[in-house]
Amino acid sequence: MKSDIQICRDTNLTPIDQIARQAGILPDDLTPQGTLKAKVKPSILKRLNDRQEGKLVLVTAITPTPLGEGKTVTTIGLAQGLAKINQSVMACIRQPSMGPVFGVKGGAAGGGYSQVAPMEKLNLHLTGDIHAVTAAHNLAAAALDARLYHEERHGYDAFADKTGLTPLRIDINRICWKRVMDHNDRALRMITVGNNEPGKTINGIARDDGFDISAASELMAILALSKDLADMRQRLGRIVLAYNLDGQPVTAEDLQVAGAMAVTMCEAIEPTLMQTLEGVPTLIHAGPFANIAHGNSSIIADRIALKLSDYTITEGGFGSDMGFEKACNIKAQQAERGPDCAVVVATLRGLKANSGCYDLRPGQALPDAIFSPDEKALLGGFANLKWHIRNAAKYGIPVVVAINRFPQDTDTELNLLKAWVSEEDFGCYVDVAISEAFGNGGEGAAELAQAVVSACQTPAQFKPLYSLDQSLEEKLMTVAEVGYGGRGVELSPQAKQQLAELKQQGHDNLAVCMAKTPLSITHDPSQKGAPTDFIVPIRELRLCAGAGFVYALCGNVMTMPGLPEKPAYMALDIDDDGNIIGLS
Ligand code: ADP
Ligand code: MG
Repeated sequence: MKSDIQICRDTNLTPIDQIARQAGILPDDLTPQGTLKAKVKPSILKRLNDRQEGKLVLVTAITPTPLGEGKTVTTIGLAQGLAKINQSVMACIRQPSMGPVFGVKGGAAGGGYSQVAPMEKLNLHLTGDIHAVTAAHNLAAAALDARLYHEERHGYDAFADKTGLTPLRIDINRICWKRVMDHNDRALRMITVGNNEPGKTINGIARDDGFDISAASELMAILALSKDLADMRQRLGRIVLAYNLDGQPVTAEDLQVAGAMAVTMCEAIEPTLMQTLEGVPTLIHAGPFANIAHGNSSIIADRIALKLSDYTITEGGFGSDMGFEKACNIKAQQAERGPDCAVVVATLRGLKANSGCYDLRPGQALPDAIFSPDEKALLGGFANLKWHIRNAAKYGIPVVVAINRFPQDTDTELNLLKAWVSEEDFGCYVDVAISEAFGNGGEGAAELAQAVVSACQTPAQFKPLYSLDQSLEEKLMTVAEVGYGGRGVELSPQAKQQLAELKQQGHDNLAVCMAKTPLSITHDPSQKGAPTDFIVPIRELRLCAGAGFVYALCGNVMTMPGLPEKPAYMALDIDDDGNIIGLS
């Protein structure tokens, strides 16, 4: 089979204005960016206000291997499958971060005959939204350090006299805004800024700082959760950057930088329209990771797609304990719109990896055996699929299992898995189909598409796991107990103190965003299958007042990834004609 980039290059794509027209997007709603991508103005929602919304289908997965089990392939393939059976459909996915593109996983445009095209545009820069998020985030960081410097240099009274501004009296020990960049760069996790020659202060005030990856920026979450420009502007103002010497929050509004941040992001708020290899309109918007952030594409993109099509297919990152949980508890509550159907992607290799039959070490290559037939290991991993099916059904929506077929998979094992799912009584609506979307595009996902259409006919009774008026502890406990099936949470002394402060500052009504490993339902990546009887340790809580959640760091999760020994960028190159080589 040809490589992803070769398949993409060999496909005749339709001009984007034509894709837009067919989707019901008018020229006035559109700002073309070349011939194959275009920004869609959120003002389109005013024009479409009276239209009924279609069904929202949320693609999730079993506990994945580090390679990914094919949610994006299935999202794009299912959208193409629905188009094949004459349904009106759009897909909404996140913009890939360059961290994974150059790191371990590679691109995130789907693969094989189920891709968003042109994949090299999607995977690298696209329309610059991640750069805008990075620039707006770092503007706030620069503004904070500059204000700290000027107030210290003059003294508070002289600063007030000189500028007419009220001194913010930022507590240098309580700055909670790091810098960000869109690369995996472990060397930047802990840095010192404001270094000076002895006796000088020209370079600012020295302090410890660090970088996160842009996908973890609160601004990325704000972009994904904002309802419109006005909402985004308000949220940016609410961001707490630091505390002052009296322990009061210093917000982006206090620093008078929120307006400029909004200006920097004013085009980023427009989703980018692209197409799949089979011409299905696809909106790309925002890129929060699902381990260290909330892991879903934007509310604005979903709303546009729901108004324009009968089926909107979107993806929550990693397994159903991760992006799906956050889609249901954070995104759906803010959007006031939950999904109508869950698609749980399962693979033979992923289930075998969850069987406990192999010694899988984080950071090490997967053993060849998980790619070969092994019914015992497959059966061993079935518990993990059952867990994810029941977990998705817990939210009151029908579940369709998509068995994502890889080239090495045998009919015997695929049919065995399908039969197990069909025969098991889950006590809820569960259907199953084998998806050959990778090898055969929409045609290969037609059976899955039919199953999704049938599932969407059952009335969904979507309900999140917690309501926002519960306390922060109750929400953390609910996610650990009901969401993960654990025995609760254990807060570190630091997290306990932070919790008390957050409550005292009036943030008890925010959602909780768990930052944890995707490689296990628990916080410990070595715990495979469907573990029970575990307690989730919470190391630290961080306030994201603009995004509307409190971020809980569970276990050893890093908010700035690192590069492996042999990163994906080693395969990348460009030929003399400007064609990109080695992107997958
Ligand atoms: P996820 O969205 O779940 O992280 P992706 O859809 O990005 O996973 O797939 C992960 C990787 O596996 C990608 O490189 C993709 O092209 C590849 N892949 C997914 N499904 C298949 C398949 N059925 N056959 C071959 N490769 C696949
Ligand atoms: Mg994906």
